[in-house]
Amino acid sequence: VGAILRNRSGMIPYPMPSSASVSAAMRGNRKRDTRPELGLRSRLHRLGYRFRVNFGVRVQNRIVRPDIVFTKARIAVFVDGCYWHSCGEHGTTPRTNSGYWRPKLERNVSRDREVDCLLTSSGWSVIRVWEHLAVEEATTRVQRALLGNRASRPRPNRHSLSRQTAVAAGT
Ligand SMILES: [Zn+2]
Repeated sequence: VGAILRNRSGMIPYPMPSSASVSAAMRGNRKRDTRPELGLRSRLHRLGYRFRVNFGVRVQNRIVRPDIVFTKARIAVFVDGCYWHSCGEHGTTPRTNSGYWRPKLERNVSRDREVDCLLTSSGWSVIRVWEHLAVEEATTRVQRALLGNRASRPRPNRHSLSRQTAVAAGT
């Protein structure tokens, strides 16, 4: 239980009302806009990277919603919650109601792998970072994936450059 109490969300999970748990299951229990996710997004943004948030990627007639999407580079980033996605360090199954939670968490993990397969087989790169990862490290991992991909390099001067070009052309 100690591991669950240390969970970043600060909540001890319990079975939710059925309608809520159904919709949570459909989302793959992904919580949006968590602190680690916001931290990574703002850092990447400050570095000049531009990406989509809450963007539905259509792969093989399914819609996948990674946490951060670089559409041109076809890079999908997921910030996985330690509890929901069973991180090796913090993802323990609660003793109470384990008959409910264990299969649920196992389904999450197999859904994650399924999503990975869907995306990679459609030419996407998938990056998964644990929510416990320091934001600097998570950023580095994303940057490393973006390296060599021209479409996704930071382009803070893109607009001023095109304006200069326009002026030079006398328009
Ligand atoms: Zn963790």
